[in-house]
Amino acid sequence: MSSKKLGLNTICTHSGSIEDKTFQGSVSPLYMSTSFNFMDVDTKRYPRYFNTPNQEHLSKKIAALEHAEAALIFGSGMAAISATLLTFLKSGDHAVIQNDIYGGTRNFIESHFANYGIEYSFTKDLSYKAFEDCIQSNTKLIYIETPSNPLMKLVDIFAIAKLAKNHKIITAADNTFASPIIQNPIDLGIDIVMHSATKYFGGHSDISAGAVASSQEIMDKIWSLAKDFGGNLSDYTVWLLERSMKTLGIRVKAQQRNAKRLAKFLEKHSAVKTVYYPGLKSNEYHSLAKIQMKGYGAMLSFELTDKYDAEKFLEALTLIKPSMSLAGVESTMLLPSKTSHALLSEFDRATQGITDQLIRFSVGIETKKDLIEDIEQAISASNPKK
Ligand SMILES: *Cc1c(COP(=O)(O)O)cnc(C)c1O
Repeated sequence: MSSKKLGLNTICTHSGSIEDKTFQGSVSPLYMSTSFNFMDVDTKRYPRYFNTPNQEHLSKKIAALEHAEAALIFGSGMAAISATLLTFLKSGDHAVIQNDIYGGTRNFIESHFANYGIEYSFTKDLSYKAFEDCIQSNTKLIYIETPSNPLMKLVDIFAIAKLAKNHKIITAADNTFASPIIQNPIDLGIDIVMHSATKYFGGHSDISAGAVASSQEIMDKIWSLAKDFGGNLSDYTVWLLERSMKTLGIRVKAQQRNAKRLAKFLEKHSAVKTVYYPGLKSNEYHSLAKIQMKGYGAMLSFELTDKYDAEKFLEALTLIKPSMSLAGVESTMLLPSKTSHALLSEFDRATQGITDQLIRFSVGIETKKDLIEDIEQAISASNPKK
């Protein structure tokens, strides 16, 4: 089956599944073996080599979804991201890193790059010029993450990919927030796409995994480092992830439909100062989103007006859970100022627009009216601020 011609939900359901030739069961058999007959195949199979039957097959689904030639599945998003960065950055190299990126990635860069002799610059903002300004003669990699956390700012993927190509620099994009259902950076010229599969791929808040997709040539390079770092995922979880990914398309679309309605509801609400969601016509990234995304995603942020107490609001929610993670079928909210961005100084948070009133909302698949009711009652419970 050539996946190019298949529709998204068909790829989700069928691509890369393993035929059960012994019992003709309808789902992929799970192969837990860590030991395989070496006389059987050219490549020796071993979990840490990323080539057990379940790993190899699920990689095909991920590659098909990202319009890539090949993919690898890791034990976490950070395992995928760190292996990718260290494959292409050596001592004396320099990387240009987008300013607003996932905290764990930022921490990895700031805590460990110096030990490897790798230089880096964070961009001033998300504009083309900010990326261009950071490029040096030893720049080897440009790293982006769009939409960004928590304000859903977008980077012009095509423009940055072109800028990098002009300078013969490799590009890597963290596509976790959009998912391949909504955005395919490779189609826009990006070389490598990474995912925290803990988020939308898993989708039920019960799997830790990561993935990288790219050309076969690039994936071979990443593989040769990754097999030595040993960040593979156990086959049982690979199998579970395959099951989750069958519904990736319908889940993300249902979550996105809710997000769009909730964004509109919040935008009109008198207790809400600002809503950050690229799907709103009023959003500064709306036209760019239309060009580079196939929708607007299911993540949004909003700011309560000063009359309301954001912490009380979160405590008062009964259906929506206060939670650090995101992308599950259940709706969750968090305060970036108290969680993901707590380590930044108050000044840095303020300049980035992350106020104490800002709430990040990972929209789930619940019935819209129940989500709205929960938000309404929590708003009432957190007013007036004393
Ligand atoms: C969660 C996340 C990661 C890290 O993934 P883990 O699976 O937690 O290692 C990386 N990037 C983004 C955008 C994320 O949301």
